[in-house]
Amino acid sequence: HESELDLLKRQLPIWLASSKELCLEGKVASYIPELSKAPQEALGIHIIDQAGHSVTAGDSGLTFTMQSISKVFTLLLALMDNGEDVVFDKVGMEPTGDNFNSMLKLELVQPGIPFNPLINAGAIAISSLIAGGTSEEKSERTLQFFRKLARNDSLSYDMAVYRSEAESADLNRSMAYFLKDNGVLKGNVNEVLDIYFRHCSISVTCADLARMALVLAYNGTDPLTGVNLIPRRYVQIAKTFMVTCGMYNASGEFAIEVGLPAKSGVAGGILTMVPGRYGIGVIGPSLNPKGNSIAGVHVLETLSREMDWSLF
Ligand code: GLN
Repeated sequence: HESELDLLKRQLPIWLASSKELCLEGKVASYIPELSKAPQEALGIHIIDQAGHSVTAGDSGLTFTMQSISKVFTLLLALMDNGEDVVFDKVGMEPTGDNFNSMLKLELVQPGIPFNPLINAGAIAISSLIAGGTSEEKSERTLQFFRKLARNDSLSYDMAVYRSEAESADLNRSMAYFLKDNGVLKGNVNEVLDIYFRHCSISVTCADLARMALVLAYNGTDPLTGVNLIPRRYVQIAKTFMVTCGMYNASGEFAIEVGLPAKSGVAGGILTMVPGRYGIGVIGPSLNPKGNSIAGVHVLETLSREMDWSLF
């Protein structure tokens, strides 16, 4: 009887190959100029189980920046630093149905409070809640937290992407000033944005994402060590946001076609998991019009269907 991991080892390269041609139908993000250097035709995946066994296929060795994937983990850190009441005083719990960088709804419903922590406005508000004496200290705590979850002490920033975003982020800057005026964001706007640009530019591989996802798949406890790193309740909150808002305004379709908690980033990464079983990292820099990896989403659809992984 073949194990599931053996089946994956055999099938994954085939499924990956049949998704790869989609890369040419998408576009690499260019609104952060440095991101446009990523290879359009790359596609890679890494899957890890609770014993540390892994399956990897395609261009899984590629390094890329986390971008919006980091928002899941800054939310978790902000929850650990402040508790639920403080965090949900500043951000809501609902999907917007708009693009990740939309400011359309910032003035609606709850005046001035971003709809959720995974859109840019919400994530910028979350960046301002991370504990620390200075903005350098807040960024350092964030990086250390990410390193611990990825079990990789060499995780660091891609400084070229960081600078490129800082130089081109007029929309994010304007949202941050708006949030400050509404009292959502406290302190120095430029310092908060610096924390945000830094965590977005943390450089990873699919294996790093898979290990971070594994901790979420096991409700905050690293199954490889048995050490609890995040309270279970906060992981539950983060995973629920991943289902409802993790793929931006394609989250509904992704829930139907894949049915797993996931978070994408504009560099083409997707972090997802099969709860209680696997952590998964995917990279495919070519994006669909909603800003998700076009081939990455397709390979996850195939995997979920073939392996019967949907939670629903
Ligand atoms: N750093 C990016 C931005 O703020 C993150 C967006 C994303 O990955 N969707 O635009």
